[in-house]
Amino acid sequence: MAKIKKIAVLTSGGDAPGMNAAVRAVVRAALYHHIEVVGIEHGYEGMINGEFIKLSSLDVRNVIQRGGTFLRSARSLEFKTKEGRAKAYQNALDHKIDALVVIGGDGTFMGAGIFSQEYDIPCVGIPGTIDNDMYGTDFTIGFDTALNTVVEAIDKIKDTASAHDRTFFIEVMGRDAGFIALQAGIACGAEAILIPEVEGQEEKLKEFILSQTKAKKTSQIILVAEGNNLGGAHEIANKVAADFHDLSIRVSVLGHIQRGGSPTAFDRYLASRLGVAAVEALLDNQRSIMVGYTNHEVVHVPFNKTIKGHRNVSAELLTVADILTI
Ligand code: ATP
Repeated sequence: MAKIKKIAVLTSGGDAPGMNAAVRAVVRAALYHHIEVVGIEHGYEGMINGEFIKLSSLDVRNVIQRGGTFLRSARSLEFKTKEGRAKAYQNALDHKIDALVVIGGDGTFMGAGIFSQEYDIPCVGIPGTIDNDMYGTDFTIGFDTALNTVVEAIDKIKDTASAHDRTFFIEVMGRDAGFIALQAGIACGAEAILIPEVEGQEEKLKEFILSQTKAKKTSQIILVAEGNNLGGAHEIANKVAADFHDLSIRVSVLGHIQRGGSPTAFDRYLASRLGVAAVEALLDNQRSIMVGYTNHEVVHVPFNKTIKGHRNVSAELLTVADILTI
């Protein structure tokens, strides 16, 4: 394989706090190894449109603590087409790019895997998504920050819930995965947690509310992952309200605040380690792999596995939640 002289880095899919720290680490690690770096703005869309910017060490000064991504992110339908990827390749050729580091979720890795197969450009991925639903890594960049944001918000809602004897249904992000809801629910002492991975929660929820009512427990927090199978927080709250007329019910959808904010120390640390590992993997002639973090060690996982594999919620965590929520 020819020596890598210039790499490009992009952020793609949903943004996650810590992406800037990852870009910074990629840039500094590349420069350390005497490799030039360019950033591509707006993910694959910018690759197609030629949005390449040279990055120096100074360009990534003071970004480690910033949420979002200064390279900006996008979802690109055009990159899913052969023609779109051909344009992206032409731009990469014009900018003499030898290798690519992509920061995003499994869709981003899918795109990079296809691109790398079609054109001879090695690609390495860094998992950046708040959902933590990526197979092959214990943590994705952004999850810890999102979790802390949710915990802080719920603590505040709990104060008003208890002051007014209210039942709060709080919806958090997680279309396909309940990691945020489950872990935030445990961390906040939520009374019930509804996640997509668990079936048949309606009866259990009603029984639970009935028992709470009998026990004269007047305020409760019910955490709902947005993709859970009973519907969103509003829908579930309506169903419960129909059966329990005396409950004072409120709904709070936390929404996009979960994506923003300064990354936690852990996310900055994780992003820094993975950014360096991504560049070192490329120097080691690796391609089409994700650099992940398992049992406190950096690991290399083929894109195929991260895309096809499914990360399950651990049974032990579900038991902990069951024991502590009732
Ligand atoms: P998140 O977990 O935050 O949603 P993601 O990386 O999974 O992040 P996607 O929107 O699924 O987000 O994927 C990001 C981009 O990757 C897409 O907008 C598209 O450009 C590219 N991509 C996804 N799937 C493919 C595919 N099958 N072929 C080519 N490109 C793809």
